[in-house]
Amino acid sequence: MPTQPTLEQIVSLAKRRGFVYPTSDIYGGLANSYDYGPMGTELLRNIRDLWWKYFITARPDMVGLQSQILQHPRTWIASGHVDAFNDPLVEDLVNHKRYRADHIIEEWLEKKAEKLGLEMLIVEDMDIKEMAAFIVKHKIISPDGNKLSEPKEFSLLFETQIGSVAGDKSTVYMRGETAQGIFTNFKNVLDSTRVQLPFGIGNLGTSFRNEVTTGQFVFRTLEFEQAEIEYFFDPEKEDWQDLMTTWKEQMWAFATQELGVSEENLRWRQHTDKERSFYSLDTWDLDYKYPFGHKELWGIAYRTDYDLKQHQKFSGKSMEYTDPHTNKKFIPHVIEPAGGVSRFFLMTLCDAYWEDKENNRTVLKLQPSLAPYKAAIFPLAKNKPELVAQAKEIFEELSQKYHVAWDERSSIGKRYLYQDEIGTPYCITVDYDTLEDGTVTIRDRDTTDQTRVKIEELAQYLEQRI
Ligand code: ATP
Repeated sequence: MPTQPTLEQIVSLAKRRGFVYPTSDIYGGLANSYDYGPMGTELLRNIRDLWWKYFITARPDMVGLQSQILQHPRTWIASGHVDAFNDPLVEDLVNHKRYRADHIIEEWLEKKAEKLGLEMLIVEDMDIKEMAAFIVKHKIISPDGNKLSEPKEFSLLFETQIGSVAGDKSTVYMRGETAQGIFTNFKNVLDSTRVQLPFGIGNLGTSFRNEVTTGQFVFRTLEFEQAEIEYFFDPEKEDWQDLMTTWKEQMWAFATQELGVSEENLRWRQHTDKERSFYSLDTWDLDYKYPFGHKELWGIAYRTDYDLKQHQKFSGKSMEYTDPHTNKKFIPHVIEPAGGVSRFFLMTLCDAYWEDKENNRTVLKLQPSLAPYKAAIFPLAKNKPELVAQAKEIFEELSQKYHVAWDERSSIGKRYLYQDEIGTPYCITVDYDTLEDGTVTIRDRDTTDQTRVKIEELAQYLEQRI
């Protein structure tokens, strides 16, 4: 059974085996920024592709979109991000390090709440004034033991300039979410495709947020990939609660069946009335039990017609949909399932991590569809040309269809251990018997069982299992 790893174990495996490196490592790193190495890039790509297939191409009611990171700045004024996309920050008054006030209170509560009988307190329900009062009342100090400033709102949006002259007109924002690109293109999609309500648009790509909380690895980064959907519908024809239930079921199924995550590590959490954004009528978080506790993996919100109305108001362009049967004109409502690819990524690493004590090895029990390599091909010895030639032939055939690894270095045992740690489900060895009877050894990552299979049946063997 996979074991719940510590964050240190995950970070160490990720670096050791080429999943994740600190960004600008040679310069000492950059806070909350990570690069994906050869294995991480493949895992990320597999997750992204699975998401795209599951939610976009496999459905008749969905289409995809790729909008820009830099958009017209009015987009972010209309969406409310310029005014209200803030985190409450406190500053250590001695060393000037900044922290999220809600995170500082949460950590304090984790340590003290039970003793003081405060366990029912929900930090998400506190506004900035309540946080300020709470910090003063309980004399909460910084992690370095210093006094904290009053919490202040801090914008998460990164600003930049376009053009050669910096000035108000050229200030643009790096998008803080992919969703707004969907709303601003709503009319374009309506006018250029055959969609009819209810339908959804998915947008997958990089977003930026000026996050200050450190220590959560790829869970919370400045630059990250989002996979967001806006599902548009007529509120007079569809029951939003039914839609919400169906979407929640699909998100759960994607996490458990496609990404193969254990159900017991997932939970739904509904936002309280105070926590929920004012335009949303219902919001839920799908939380995963990361090594640092249950945290949001994916959110789903019923946002009514708020966003399209805002863009209609700020752009002066109609965002109405005309019902083809009744000619009724109206602004559709939306349900928004919004996820983060890097949070999916960290979840799959944590969930697949397994210390196999019996065999003294670390294994990533990734779903075969997610594994960076589906199989690894080994010639038993690299100095035997007949073995190498036969193994190369197998590599060339299988690599037409699958991403397969080639390894001829060190002992077979060491090669197995390496492939286990990067999650390769099958290792195929060409040995002297291969030259006699045309069979190879296939070794299974999870059971370590070995079987002999005929070369001509290899493709079929993998097809049945991947
Ligand atoms: P949190 O409360 O954890 O900061 P959020 O509620 O602000 O997240 P949303 O605005 O709902 O997040 O964004 C949708 C999804 O984007 C999240 O569910 C998460 O998976 C992902 N996401 C948001 N911020 C980050 C980040 N800084 N790094 C990585 N993924 C992120």
